[in-house]
Amino acid sequence: MAEQECIFCRIGRGEVPSEFFYRDEVVFVIGNINPEAPVHLLVIPFAHVEALAEEPGESLATLHALFAGAAGGAREAGVANQGYRLVVNQGPNAGQEVTHLHMHLLAGRRLGGMG
Ligand code: 5GP
Ligand code: ZN
Repeated sequence: MAEQECIFCRIGRGEVPSEFFYRDEVVFVIGNINPEAPVHLLVIPFAHVEALAEEPGESLATLHALFAGAAGGAREAGVANQGYRLVVNQGPNAGQEVTHLHMHLLAGRRLGGMG
């Protein structure tokens, strides 16, 4: 999907107003529009990376930033101490809907099985 139409690129550019729970130079964190847990955040790189396999070695900084963003988002949402789950859906069998790399942060209740 082109960056012009990509919903996460549009949010990152500020074209769709959203509350940022956390942001740094590489990633931003927003609430999921359709939450599947009491706290359901999305940690999203500003850059339009479509798949994990596209991440070249030099961009490992992006992956590091995703985890740092998750920790920052958890802190801001007040769930850092109670615990949370991080999930990346990659491709059709995982049900990936938005083809812009992102990490889900789920928290706020006892989470069930892993699929
Ligand atoms: P995926 O299945 O691709 O891993 O997850 C994409 C997630 O993005 C879905 O859980 C969906 O609810 C969320 N989402 C899709 N469009 C929007 C949007 O415009 N705003 C926000 N905040 N979340 C969105
Ligand atoms: Zn994008």
